[in-house]
Amino acid sequence: MVNSAVIDQHGAAPVFGLYINGEWRAAASGKSYENRNPARPDDLIGSFASGGTEDVDAAVSAAAEAFTAWSMSSPITRANILYKASEILASRVNEIGRELTREEGKTLKEGIGETSRAVQILRYYAGEAQQPTGEHYPSANPATLLYTVREPLGPCAIITPWNFPIAIPAWKIAPALAFGNTVVFKPATLTPLCAVRLTEALAEAGLPEGVLNLVTGSAGEVGDPLVNDERIIAISFTGSNEVGRQLKMSATARGAKVQLEMGGKNPAIVLADADLEHAVTNVINGAMMSTGQKCTATSRAIVDHRVADELSERLAQRIGALRVGDPQEEATQMGPLISAEAAKRVAGEIDRAKREGLTLLTKDGASTDLGDGYFVRPALFGGVAPDSRLAQEELFGPVLGVIPVDGLDEAIEVANNVRFGLSASLFTRDIGRALTFVRKIQAGVVHVNSETAGAEPQVPFGGYKGSSSYSREQGKAAREFFTQVKTVYLDPPPSA
Ligand code: NAP
Repeated sequence: MVNSAVIDQHGAAPVFGLYINGEWRAAASGKSYENRNPARPDDLIGSFASGGTEDVDAAVSAAAEAFTAWSMSSPITRANILYKASEILASRVNEIGRELTREEGKTLKEGIGETSRAVQILRYYAGEAQQPTGEHYPSANPATLLYTVREPLGPCAIITPWNFPIAIPAWKIAPALAFGNTVVFKPATLTPLCAVRLTEALAEAGLPEGVLNLVTGSAGEVGDPLVNDERIIAISFTGSNEVGRQLKMSATARGAKVQLEMGGKNPAIVLADADLEHAVTNVINGAMMSTGQKCTATSRAIVDHRVADELSERLAQRIGALRVGDPQEEATQMGPLISAEAAKRVAGEIDRAKREGLTLLTKDGASTDLGDGYFVRPALFGGVAPDSRLAQEELFGPVLGVIPVDGLDEAIEVANNVRFGLSASLFTRDIGRALTFVRKIQAGVVHVNSETAGAEPQVPFGGYKGSSSYSREQGKAAREFFTQVKTVYLDPPPSA
């Protein structure tokens, strides 16, 4: 056993371990898997331990063992550790941001930006840990001290996707720890390096042994046994709807507390009175940043028919001019998809839309000049019917459809007519219409005159309908999920 995340070397590539009970170690099976740069698959980032049932068991045992002491520790102690972790991460923002770009494929600006967001989240929860933990109530008996206190749940499983490989783990792990829980963290198979970097920062900041455990590896070998372990009291999951729904069924059947944040099919409504240039910029940013691989990405532009042609033309021109390429180069505006499978799937969806008769407004054809990377050129479709597959399913790639409508009422009806409800935007100069939109739109995060993808860490985040499990993450909402309430009646003893 070694006390560094790098436990071995395969030629020039490092081999990263699991972090269990305060130690970096190889998987019990001794196996590891390769992680490659999606922009240049010949670039081997490293190998990562392939955890399995035995490792999950060890990690959960460590988290269970550490729980009593950690849950009884002072919130001020926890706050200090989180704050120190934020400082450690802050000192490495550029380096880790670059690694994020190399591993996930978003642009450098986004990679560094997301890492800075993780710093901000750790800082925020260092503050939240020091907020009041309960409420004082009047009692029918004037002598009774009647109050509530929020207490931690126990060992929690944190299961995260690859598309925000450091921010999402941070916004789950930080509140879990701040409020006194212990954690077993299973990151996405495709982005283990960011998970290692976050774990290193928290470990170096002084987390006691067993409080945070990282088990890299596959859904079947790590995810399943973790979800089904009776000692895991709560599970916070972000990922696809299919996996989330399945996971909830098995976890709630054994009585676990479960939080799900899942996909979206987010609309940007553009009314005829909107500042069109502002709308174009925000619709493109919402749709194409992170190569369209955000849960909050704009994937439907629902546009008043009076401006639909002009808006579509401007969108097509600007989207067609996006610089697609290696995201490690500063000038790149859009990187690759996360994997060969994802690129194939998204290219297939574009072909299917064309076969179904939708009009592709951007330049046609697969990328030919981008080497072996998993690139797909951004695609804009015009005149899209609201019930088409392109307008209904989360494609999770750089694909946008323009749906023409007649005014705000129809726009809201179309916007709401999907199974998702994560985020939504409206572009208008009319405050009355903005208020109507805010009231009627079925989405958990609502923007007026800004893109669908903005979310700040101090406010609740989550979706309506199929996008969520009706719980919320981030901000003060995280305390709801990661704690339970104890009600205390404290009466004086009878006087002698
Ligand atoms: P995914 O395939 O559902 O995977 C998410 C996580 O769950 C990964 O760590 C995955 O492990 C794990 N997992 C898969 N099957 C499991 C099982 N049976 N038991 C336990 N764990 C299991 O999703 P993804 O492709 O990584 O992420 C993309 C999706 O996430 C999109 O739908 C996107 O909209 C959604 N998302 C939502 C939000 C939000 O806040 N609402 C934010 C970001 C992303 P492996 O990696 O090993 O498969």
